[in-house]
Amino acid sequence: MNLNAPRGTKDILPEEAERRRALERTFAEVCERYGFGEIRVPTFEHTELFVRGVGDASDIVRKEMYTFLDKGDRSLTLRPEGTAGVARAYIEQGMSSWPAPVKLWYNMNMFRYEKMQKGRYREFWQLGCEIFGSACPQADAQLIGMLVTFFDDLGLDEVNLEINSIGCPACRAAYHQALRDYYAPKLKDMCDDCHERFEKNPLRMLDCKEAYCHSLAEEAPAQLDYLCDDCKEHFDKVKSYLSMMEIPYNLNPRLVRGLDYYTRTVFEFVSSHVGTQGTICGGGRYDGLIREIGNIDVPGVGFALGVERLLLELDAQGIPFGKAARPDLYIASFPSTAANALDLAQSLIRSGLKVETDVMDRSLKAQFKAADRMEAHYVLVLGDTEVSLSRGKLRRLSDGSEQDVPLTAVGTLLHDYRKKLASAKENDRQSTLFKL
Ligand code: ATP
Ligand code: MG
Repeated sequence: MNLNAPRGTKDILPEEAERRRALERTFAEVCERYGFGEIRVPTFEHTELFVRGVGDASDIVRKEMYTFLDKGDRSLTLRPEGTAGVARAYIEQGMSSWPAPVKLWYNMNMFRYEKMQKGRYREFWQLGCEIFGSACPQADAQLIGMLVTFFDDLGLDEVNLEINSIGCPACRAAYHQALRDYYAPKLKDMCDDCHERFEKNPLRMLDCKEAYCHSLAEEAPAQLDYLCDDCKEHFDKVKSYLSMMEIPYNLNPRLVRGLDYYTRTVFEFVSSHVGTQGTICGGGRYDGLIREIGNIDVPGVGFALGVERLLLELDAQGIPFGKAARPDLYIASFPSTAANALDLAQSLIRSGLKVETDVMDRSLKAQFKAADRMEAHYVLVLGDTEVSLSRGKLRRLSDGSEQDVPLTAVGTLLHDYRKKLASAKENDRQSTLFKL
């Protein structure tokens, strides 16, 4: 039997799971502050949804989907991205009759049959947001602002925002023509995929990763020169809102998103650390999507952020985000008091504290070692005397100071200490935020 996890997948062990959970919790909190509600959609959908919603010229649909027939002969596909499923739910659940805009966030695993590389897996996680029902540039700008807040809360910097506008179907026709005129004489030396893109969607030739094709993008005509008045005005407003919020950006006229349903604003957050897989987050406006799959006109804008790439970036920047919390207390015991230690730990943990105690009948020395390794804030040795007097010495490991306290007071003392540490940390954070 093959005991290796399938190629492109990986086991997530406690240390990484802890970091992910912290990251996801922070994201959920930021979404909540911006008024988004969580959505969870099925892991698989009818294949047709992705073909229509992502676009049959996209790499995802052409090469990367996990598609299978179920026992009822239906063609189903493991979701390669979130937006199509969320848009399907929007239509199916009648969210167009909800008060607009409808603001949703998700945290879901995605599946793409890709070549494994650092930061590129076959199962990976995305955190994402969608705003349905607003065609206004404020929505685009607020999504970007939200990502800036999230990165800030993580303590992450050095991720650069790149933006572009890819126009609307009206102004894109002229641009497509300009691209075809530019690429036509060079086409014979370009890759097979680009031949197909040339026919179906020349915009995507700008996104080709083949060295020669990639080098041609540099000189290609820019969509920005072909924007219609409405698209231009929209883009100018997005840029001015970003400037107003003091969010720096680079204008990147070659930036296109891999998915076909994007219109107008496209953006990416890119890191210089993760190597070739530098895009941590991609997003943009997709005013054509809901019509494509649901025959109603609802504008939308959203983004998806790759969790694995974000974790790599946090590592690269040496940010110790999401380390497991230190135990508030380690209760050391003897075989005669093990049950009392278990009981005391039980009530302290129920009160909300993180408490460790020995469950292996280990020597006192081994227990002290464990308390050190776990970096417990306090240690309490529970011997027969302590149990009979119902008092004990609470020793702080950082400075060795000791307090003789009734066991009934331990919980309150530890909760107070926790609050003190948390408020010192919060003061630090606020003073850097407001440069006090
Ligand atoms: P790329 O050009 O790197 O293939 P993409 O255009 O396919 O990216 P999107 O579909 O926009 O990416 O997905 C949004 C984000 O999800 C990416 O910016 C990236 O952080 C992450 N992501 C995409 N594919 C993978 C993957 N195979 N493994 C890990 N993360 C991924
Ligand atoms: Mg891709």
